[in-house]
Amino acid sequence: MTDIQSTLAKASAKLAETSDSALLDAEILLCHVLDKTRSHLRAWPEKKLSTSHSQQFLKLSKQRQQGVPIAYLTGHKEFWSLDFKVDPAVLIPRPDTELLIELSLELLVSKASPQIIDLGTGSGIIAIALATERPDIKAIAADFSEQALNIARQNSAMHQVKNIQFIHSNWFANVPPHKFDLVISNPPYIDGNDPHLSQGDVRFEPDSALIAKDQGLKDIKIITGNARQYLKQHGTLLIEHGCDQQSAVQAIFDSYQYTSIKTHTDLSGNPRVTTAQWSAS
Ligand code: GLN
Repeated sequence: MTDIQSTLAKASAKLAETSDSALLDAEILLCHVLDKTRSHLRAWPEKKLSTSHSQQFLKLSKQRQQGVPIAYLTGHKEFWSLDFKVDPAVLIPRPDTELLIELSLELLVSKASPQIIDLGTGSGIIAIALATERPDIKAIAADFSEQALNIARQNSAMHQVKNIQFIHSNWFANVPPHKFDLVISNPPYIDGNDPHLSQGDVRFEPDSALIAKDQGLKDIKIITGNARQYLKQHGTLLIEHGCDQQSAVQAIFDSYQYTSIKTHTDLSGNPRVTTAQWSAS
């Protein structure tokens, strides 16, 4: 029987061939198998592992060696300090997307019972993070993937959120006529030929959540064009995009006659979200 310390040492040496966070990866996977925190691993390095725990851990670390993202192996990812269930049907939440939450909360500060829609909700992180911050919100979360909606509904139940209506819809296609204060989306925006698609976690994520035609801009165009019918007077559109798409996205917003177009930078200093107001003339 092997102990915690030597199990971690052996696994992280192997993982180091393919991961630059080898020890952390090994610790997270072992915590997952043992259902314990990392401080438990540090406090009990000599504790022996049962055969079943060792086998489970070995299986997961082999999958990790093949590149499977940690979040898909544990089935969880933290976003906005909340725990979310994830599986390969949904994109893994990124810290970059927290910018959409910050901007949305600022825009809603002086609005009572605001109405919002999150398009392409995936695991539901945007709508759920906003709904937990603002229980007075009325939200619609839409996705064209039933599997994604299923995960989003589970996350919503896990966080005891009651104010989100989930809709099966390709962008606005099945969204009933309605006016929202905010239309928010983290759509697919990567060009199909982008070399970054063959590296790291994205290799295992759903293409439909990552890749868009027209240099990654096709879905952004669809959302921007259609959002005009769904925004209240002076309502705001917020779209996450690639760090090199700032001017292209601004040009799209401009071509659809939005005003106050502004791009905001994420925690890593990259242009990541563009916002604009809709004012019908
Ligand atoms: N930000 C993600 C990435 O670059 C892509 C997410 C998306 O397309 N919405 O990996």
